Amino acid sequence: MKYESVRATDPEIFEVIKKETARQEYTLEMIASENYASRAVLETMATVLNNKYAEGYPGRRYYGGCQFVDIAENLAIERAKELFRVRFVNVQPHSGSQANMAVYFALIKPGDTILSMELSHGGHLTHGHRVNFSGKLYNVVHYTVHPETERIDFDLVRKLAREHKPAIIVTGYSAYPRIIEWDRFREIADEVGAYVMADIAHIAGLVAGGVHPSPIPYVHATTTTTHKTLRGPRGGMVMTDYEDIAKKIDKTVFPGIQGGPLMHVIAAKAVAFREALTPSFREYAQQVVKNAKALAEELMRQGLRLVSGGTDNHLILVDLRSIGMKGNEAERILEEVGITVNKNTIPFDPEKPTVTSGIRIGTPILTTRGMKEEEMRQVGQIIAKVLKDASEENKKWAKGKVRELAEAFPFYRDLL
Ligand SMILES: *Cc1c(COP(=O)(O)O)cnc(C)c1O
Repeated sequence: MKYESVRATDPEIFEVIKKETARQEYTLEMIASENYASRAVLETMATVLNNKYAEGYPGRRYYGGCQFVDIAENLAIERAKELFRVRFVNVQPHSGSQANMAVYFALIKPGDTILSMELSHGGHLTHGHRVNFSGKLYNVVHYTVHPETERIDFDLVRKLAREHKPAIIVTGYSAYPRIIEWDRFREIADEVGAYVMADIAHIAGLVAGGVHPSPIPYVHATTTTTHKTLRGPRGGMVMTDYEDIAKKIDKTVFPGIQGGPLMHVIAAKAVAFREALTPSFREYAQQVVKNAKALAEELMRQGLRLVSGGTDNHLILVDLRSIGMKGNEAERILEEVGITVNKNTIPFDPEKPTVTSGIRIGTPILTTRGMKEEEMRQVGQIIAKVLKDASEENKKWAKGKVRELAEAFPFYRDLL
């Protein structure tokens, strides 16, 4: 039995770990922002590296005894540089949100203008939503996707940039299924004297794997999470090719907005980057996209409309109005049969964010488990069937199919 000490000390939390492991093992997790980290990544986080205070940076710490964690942080930095072909990296942000905070605090002042994508069109809370620090501290102007193509409306971006003279233009999204043309953002930013920040939280693994263009050559700063398609520990990172910006970002992360870095997580980032540098990770990234395309085709064949008519990346946005359903209802039905997705607004959504007209579906986890196009077609058939008719009979059939697929692709079985 795993986790003997937790079981002895805290049977209630042991139960949670056991049940969550079984949930991840026996259901189909299709939340686009999630992934299953490798055993090496998980093991690294559960080590004594957790205990070490290391405020500062490798070689210039405010605490003694940092000689070994320094090696870990340097490895994380060097591997990230190689992986993303970038000159400067800060691996200390505790999360994607703190990576974004670091860039804003380093490059712009409170009251300055941020030009970013509307949340309901695929943006993120940290891109200036009024409930987030970013929306409270800065003046925010939003662009959207084009109503017909449902792709970034660059004419609108240019028009708003000329009109509002933003200090920073933010690109990179949480629910946008298409390739992002970084160079077009830089062109507009240069015209109005703005910085560009690319937030690749979702697509970092695809960028690292060479299946999405890299923003690094085009933008001033790139932020990411390390736990989404990149498949590492939960955390964030900031990258830039500009030395002056790198210095400002380092000072902002520590001592500006964080205290001691999470050395166990930074070491796990190093492990994840080593994994991402292998040929098998490139194959993984390619398969994530192939799987998303296969799933998209099947869903469309079944009569569901997809936002922008398909996908170029790891995620799909389904417009459920095509089958007369709401996002919250679809999320609930799919969860009942063992497929986890999230309700999601679609561009120009007539419904509230708690209801929505869409669901977001991602392929990173099923691809990590080893599934390919054939399984994606089956998953597409299951989803379409229960959403079009959630009869008890269909749900029973779907539950059986989901369990069969999950059992055929074990991942954490030995942890149960
Ligand atoms: C997930 C995400 C973040 C935030 O990451 P957290 O680690 O959850 O704080 C930021 N930006 C985008 C685009 C994201 O998708």
